[in-house]
Amino acid sequence: QTFKMISERDGRVGAYLTLNEEGARNAARRLDDKLAAGEERGLLFGLPAGIKDNIVTEGLRTTCASQFLSNFNPVYDATVTRKLREADAITLGKLNMDEFAMGGSNENSSFHPVHNPWDLDRVPGGSSGGSAAAVAAGEAYFTLGSDTGGSIRQPASYCGVVGLKPTYGLVSRFGLVAFASSLDQIGPVTKNVEDSAYVLQAIAGYDKMDSTSADVQIPDYLSSLTGDIRGLRIAVPKEYMGEGIDASVKEKVMSALKVLEDLGAVWEEVSLPHTDYAVATYYLLASSEASSNLARFDGVRYGVRAENPSNLLDLYHESRSQGFGPEVKRRIMLGTYALSSGYYDAYYLQAQKVRTLIKRDFDQVFEKYDVIIGPTAPTTAFKLGSQVDDPLTMYLNDILTIPVSLAGVPAISIPCGLADGLPVGLQIIGKAFDESAVLRVAHAYE
Ligand code: GLN
Repeated sequence: QTFKMISERDGRVGAYLTLNEEGARNAARRLDDKLAAGEERGLLFGLPAGIKDNIVTEGLRTTCASQFLSNFNPVYDATVTRKLREADAITLGKLNMDEFAMGGSNENSSFHPVHNPWDLDRVPGGSSGGSAAAVAAGEAYFTLGSDTGGSIRQPASYCGVVGLKPTYGLVSRFGLVAFASSLDQIGPVTKNVEDSAYVLQAIAGYDKMDSTSADVQIPDYLSSLTGDIRGLRIAVPKEYMGEGIDASVKEKVMSALKVLEDLGAVWEEVSLPHTDYAVATYYLLASSEASSNLARFDGVRYGVRAENPSNLLDLYHESRSQGFGPEVKRRIMLGTYALSSGYYDAYYLQAQKVRTLIKRDFDQVFEKYDVIIGPTAPTTAFKLGSQVDDPLTMYLNDILTIPVSLAGVPAISIPCGLADGLPVGLQIIGKAFDESAVLRVAHAYE
């Protein structure tokens, strides 16, 4: 059924890079056998799912939307891939993205861009653009994305679906191709909040294969969807509702706050004073980590190897020159520069200090409030091609999602109405490991 939708629609949307038709059919057969044998059904029994193409899947091509990995077939499953299988979900295929998750519009895919199902001339957001577009277009029941600086939430906002970035460490990163290891998190993209809770339940939890995995008790997320938010204290940062945020987006967020108020919550304006520094801090730290993580792509170990090199250095040089796209090269150069001796203290170390200040902003607000609410992105989906030549403008689209990533706390983006016919996203941010509160508020609003 879903493959039929994909064949009808994906020619225009471009959400998938690789389909897993045979694998999906085999999985479906296994589930039939399971039913026939009277075995217990998994939490996601029979749900057709798409997986972002930076999450490894055994025997199923995993490219990170890069030419470098265009022939890469992993020999193992990521922990989340395994957990989806154990929960009886069915993998339909691998989803388009910005190359190595670097980007905010999906235009950095080295294969083809993704088109927003709401308006095919517009971007779906990024880097998990395929993950959001697939759900919006009915080409998957749910998908997994990854979020380093907003890559689940911003595309969810642009495509009118629900995207959850869990607390750093809640979901295992084992088998997620690393972009910026201190920020990367995997999370669900779904049609509604209840589904988000189901998928999170299936993928969260300690994993000894990920050294930054948190050994915490996993609550029953579904039981937090009570609809009751009486007495809830909401903080609305003035920096998230000020200059640079579209008036129509602000208006939708204000109406959403009104709805929450009617449900018995109270909200107040607060300040996250270091917000202005977040974008610069993020691009410095993320690029530094990326320059180090992507050193493993040398033409020897993974993916495509340059032909006829004259010597070993030339093999590295040519493989990397041919394999990486322009945005990835830009980040590697920026990161290598920031980490080089003589500049390290001025840039990398300084950015780490500012990151701590940003995190403290959140800690202080969470002393008095249960959740923080604002828009997910300053605008609705923009036109394809309108920002590709202007990386700085593109980077500024992340101003509302990046601080959350730097602080490591969880946040969800849910649809809160349309502006000029395009979806607006409401971002609900919670305390570390308090996904339950985030989901409860999101569900009550929905
Ligand atoms: N748009 C941001 C970037 O380009 C975020 C990417 C992400 O979260 N993976 O880095």
